[in-house]
Amino acid sequence: MSELNRMIAQYAVFETRVQRYIRNYFWPYCSTCADACCKPDFCQETLESIFLTFLREAYPPPASYSQENGWVSETGCILKIGRPPVCYEYLCDEIMAAQPTATYQYAVNVLSKLISHVGKRAHRGKHLVEILDRKEIAVVKFSYFENRLKEAETAFASVVSFHKNDNLSTLNWRDLEKILFSPKAVKMRIK
Ligand code: SF4
Ligand code: SF4
Repeated sequence: MSELNRMIAQYAVFETRVQRYIRNYFWPYCSTCADACCKPDFCQETLESIFLTFLREAYPPPASYSQENGWVSETGCILKIGRPPVCYEYLCDEIMAAQPTATYQYAVNVLSKLISHVGKRAHRGKHLVEILDRKEIAVVKFSYFENRLKEAETAFASVVSFHKNDNLSTLNWRDLEKILFSPKAVKMRIK
């Protein structure tokens, strides 16, 4: 298997895990929301990004892209794999307000950035999904990608553990800070 194909396969597995977790965790809010935040304009990045196109080719969606609605359907996003990372980043006021403490707010912020983190600075400072040239994507260093994936996987496990145990150890905090560093979070950690 080529390094690019390994990257696509590993990314798809991680995206699926994070997507399921986010869907279940946010379900109480999103399932009754009258103002769903998906907009066809946001879907367009999937057509421009080479990496997202490769993902879609490897894991074809059940329906085609619509010029009018993008990937938005009555039941949510048609794409199971290859959504723009920004789609995972959006956290509405309702979701943030429902988090019981600042630590929970920080943890959902980290959760929302996990998919983005995997593709950070993939080649010459560009994010993996922002690469628009097939030649450039062929030279992305697999080891960089793997390191970021490992950081995201570790932080994901720490967020899940926090939600389960309502407790973040110093080690877990450090995992989260690799994804989203903030002086406020450091202060919360050392309190
Ligand atoms: S993230 Fe917020 S705005 Fe978007 S669907 Fe869920 S509850 Fe609604
Ligand atoms: S989640 Fe899917 S439908 Fe929603 S904006 Fe992103 S790509 Fe479009």
